Amino acid sequence: MAKIWVLKEPRKRDRAWNIYALREAARLKRWFKGVYYSPRLGRLLAVFKPTPGTHINQLVFEELGESALRDAYRMECPSGCNRCCVIHSGAFMLDVEVRMLPQELREIVERQPRERIRTPGGKVTIYRLDTEPMGRCIFFDVERGRCLLEEKLGKSSKPIVCLLTYCTVFASRGGKRYVKTGYRVLPDGRVEMNYREVSEKEWRAMAQRMGSVWRRYRRIHRALASDVEGVGDRKES
Ligand code: SF4
Ligand code: SF4
Repeated sequence: MAKIWVLKEPRKRDRAWNIYALREAARLKRWFKGVYYSPRLGRLLAVFKPTPGTHINQLVFEELGESALRDAYRMECPSGCNRCCVIHSGAFMLDVEVRMLPQELREIVERQPRERIRTPGGKVTIYRLDTEPMGRCIFFDVERGRCLLEEKLGKSSKPIVCLLTYCTVFASRGGKRYVKTGYRVLPDGRVEMNYREVSEKEWRAMAQRMGSVWRRYRRIHRALASDVEGVGDRKES
């Protein structure tokens, strides 16, 4: 039976370990398949499918049969929402990821505030990307609502933390669209999430509604930009 590798769940109150696990996951980004919710296991699964022979750190990854995904919902992030990038993004990049960027982008990231964290696998430097007003990510194009890293270099160039983090509102399964209607934590710690199938139209409408935060931000961003231009024009005249 085909196998998949799943990132073990983060440890509570152990940031150093979690950063270490993220760094190990970042090394396998190109084989990242997505985040799934398994109703049977009652947990989210960050799934990687590396080519045979790839070194896997089994301290942070566990191997599962692909059948674990049979009834699983795949987490989705429809375009037009952008909530995670525009305010309080909390986005950051790990040193191993920064090293993979082309020089001009690497220099931009290296100018950001950084933090060095001692992890079980050695020191890891993380670079904050959430330094624009209200925690907007430096790589978020406010006007077009796009991640510039993804646009220029492809999805696997996004920080691992962005690839793994989902609001879990939107999901797909077997070619159908779903939205979350609720969840509860079961006594044994598993999480029960409930999804309702929706039409493409309903799905898009919901993403549009979620996008109201971004559109409001964009209006303010435009207004501030035209104010700055106005000041510049007045100075020149
Ligand atoms: S809130 Fe959900 S849909 Fe919106 S950007 Fe974040 S993950 Fe995507
Ligand atoms: S790197 Fe891209 S996906 Fe991540 S927060 Fe920034 S704009 Fe959003």
